[in-house]
Amino acid sequence: MLNATERFTSMALSNQIVFFDTTLRDGEQSPGCTMHPSEKLRMAHQLAALGVDIIEAGFAIASHGDAESVRAIAKEVGVSDQAPRIASLARCKREDIEAAARAVEPARKNRIHTFLATSDLHLEAKLRMTRAQAIDQVGECVRLARTYTDNVEFSTEDGTRSDIDFLIQMVNVAVDAGATTINIPDTVGYTTPAEYKALFEKVRANVPKADDIIFSTHCHDDLGMAVANCLAGVEGGARQVECTINGIGERAGNAALEEIAAALATRHDRYPYTSNIKMTELYPTSQLLGEIISFQCSPNKAVVGKNAFAHESGIHQHGVLANPLTYEIMTPASVGFTGQNIVLGKHSGRRALEHRLTELGHKLSKPELDAVYTRFTELADRKKSIYDQDILALLHEPLAEVVNVP
Ligand code: MN
Repeated sequence: MLNATERFTSMALSNQIVFFDTTLRDGEQSPGCTMHPSEKLRMAHQLAALGVDIIEAGFAIASHGDAESVRAIAKEVGVSDQAPRIASLARCKREDIEAAARAVEPARKNRIHTFLATSDLHLEAKLRMTRAQAIDQVGECVRLARTYTDNVEFSTEDGTRSDIDFLIQMVNVAVDAGATTINIPDTVGYTTPAEYKALFEKVRANVPKADDIIFSTHCHDDLGMAVANCLAGVEGGARQVECTINGIGERAGNAALEEIAAALATRHDRYPYTSNIKMTELYPTSQLLGEIISFQCSPNKAVVGKNAFAHESGIHQHGVLANPLTYEIMTPASVGFTGQNIVLGKHSGRRALEHRLTELGHKLSKPELDAVYTRFTELADRKKSIYDQDILALLHEPLAEVVNVP
């Protein structure tokens, strides 16, 4: 049996990716995404079913409600060694760390996640603090957090816009004070994949205890590169990814968990890593989040959008019906997608119509199919969405009526 430190060391050097879900914290603090405590608890149970390793359940100091909600999740979801680790965010302040510690205390495995900005812009404009003060504060706060739990994450807020030598200095202070995970966030969605990968390589090379801790990515999507940056960070040596369901989060959002998981699974040749994510829970988790907050993801959202596996053009439908691999790089079933993937519309061909009619229990002769297909194309010219009931109606409509519709 490995002790906690040995387990961490082996994970830091392995190809196991730790999924840190922050849907309930970074995601929840964006417009339209507010969740009630009972909804957060329901979401946390689903995140556990999905197999995420760590749930950042909230920001305990933010409000009494947030603290209670983190505590409820710690108590009811963080119930065993197999359950996710439950974390709370905390600024580098005594009262924040104490509130976080109280909130995550009931979980079988917990974490305090504390952060302080490392960029001069944030230190000067927001915190009015010198670099020397920041260094003192980080050491103090990480040591304080370690008195409550042996699992402490430190984030260098605005890390990607920080002076790299100072960033490395801060990371070493946090690690020496007992931080077990170091997150270098791209707080404002500014970095690029090559730059982010190089950043992790340089930091890891300059932290003597790098192999004893886990490095983490946290990417925002302001330039549409959150997932690409996150995967580049992994190539640079990060082994934890912070992400959210449907990519919700501050401003343009966070790296989407389902996209990272699908990329790792589909391109295992380029990303030879493993994780605990249960792929077939991706779509149900995305759907549940959409029901809880005030919007679903866009139809063309990768992996979990309504149209992510939809084929409407006749050429694509013919190919997919003959062999799904012609136009699908992963199967809808592999991510738990249950909707219809052959969508009938004006671009559809005879093969797709025949396929749908067979599914609906109607086997037609060739002349019958030809007649119904003619009616179908007439209808598709007039109607944007063709539903099953429309197709069934075509079977029973007198031909003249359909043809003579103005
Ligand atoms: Mn963030």
